Amino acid sequence: MTSRLTRRTQNLGESATLKVAQRALELKAAGETIYDFSAGEPDFPSPKVAVEAARQALADGFTRYTAVAGIPALRQALAERYARRYDAPWGERDFVVTVGGKAALFELAMSLFEPGCEVVVPTPCWVSIPAQVRLAEAEVVAVETDPADGFRLHADALLAACTVQTAAIILNAPCNPTGGVISQDELAALVEGCAERGIPLIADETYEEYVYDGASPLSAASLARRYPDTVIVVGSFSKTWAMTGWRLGWAAGPPEVLRAVAAVQGHLTSNPTSFAMQGALKVLQSGDDGFAEHRREFQRRRNLVVARLNALEGISCSTPAGAFYAFPRVDGAFRAGRRSSIEFSRDLLDRAHVAVVPGSAFGADEHIRLSFACSRETLEAGLDRMAESLGG
Ligand code: PLP
Repeated sequence: MTSRLTRRTQNLGESATLKVAQRALELKAAGETIYDFSAGEPDFPSPKVAVEAARQALADGFTRYTAVAGIPALRQALAERYARRYDAPWGERDFVVTVGGKAALFELAMSLFEPGCEVVVPTPCWVSIPAQVRLAEAEVVAVETDPADGFRLHADALLAACTVQTAAIILNAPCNPTGGVISQDELAALVEGCAERGIPLIADETYEEYVYDGASPLSAASLARRYPDTVIVVGSFSKTWAMTGWRLGWAAGPPEVLRAVAAVQGHLTSNPTSFAMQGALKVLQSGDDGFAEHRREFQRRRNLVVARLNALEGISCSTPAGAFYAFPRVDGAFRAGRRSSIEFSRDLLDRAHVAVVPGSAFGADEHIRLSFACSRETLEAGLDRMAESLGG
């Protein structure tokens, strides 16, 4: 049967990292306590207003197909949010609500990329970005970011990687897994450089709200009024409002791009889930900004994790300016039996019962990723175990 699979899916590869996740599940099933730092989701509950509104929508029978691009009221509420926060020029019709930010990115890939195209991506990067580019049979052009520079994103390096084949730059800031961010000036230079070259900038702002040390959230939307033809923003309810399972995100940008995105969505998922959208609408209407408290809590956890990681021999961790992951370099602690990020993670799981994601998943085998979206007690206990196991 394998021979019948497309090259596309063969190249996707299940990856050895899933074996680490599988092993964690086995240990949990066997009743072991696992200190799980692998999750890419906040540990807070979804907002009560969302839960109540979705429950009410279900009770009211709001259970049919909706408009492909999502219910107009939700698109309107998104347009108002971006106008208020970033002076974006977009109206209801400039948004497509999608099945998570992931589907927005996938539908953009299907709309903008094809064989012969290059897509510029800062690395290390989130696993699905290169996978989606390759599914569209385009090529990834990786531009490395530097741990010594806090994995910050810079316009010059990204623009220098553009050629006549470049179909887009995909900027994920704050970045999963590195926590790297971009400054307002660099973002403006990047958006301007893209506009001059006629290259779409796809800004994946899934972690928009999670920036620390007093920084304000940034969005490429703030430049869309000046550069309406090349700015595309992807956002998500998942991380900001702890609504990962609701599967709701969005794309906003130039009308012809959004029409293509909606056309793809029409053949892929139809609309996002009807009653989930009612919940999300209520969150926006209520002005829920519970994430402000989450941001403070994540900052405390970040400080704890980074300090403790840096106290471990052979490990060095830059302080992530955004998102909720630490991405330490661990190759200084490689030994026999743990000579790659996968072996290292497997060893950590077996001996310390600490679950992390090997850096190889993100194209950085000297690193591992630890999520600090879990309680401080769990973090402390897991880091104790880690210290014991690495010392031994
Ligand atoms: N972009 C990045 C960088 C992510 O880390 C994720 C989820 O982990 C997403 C997009 C998509 O999230 P969702 O599909 O839950 O909105």
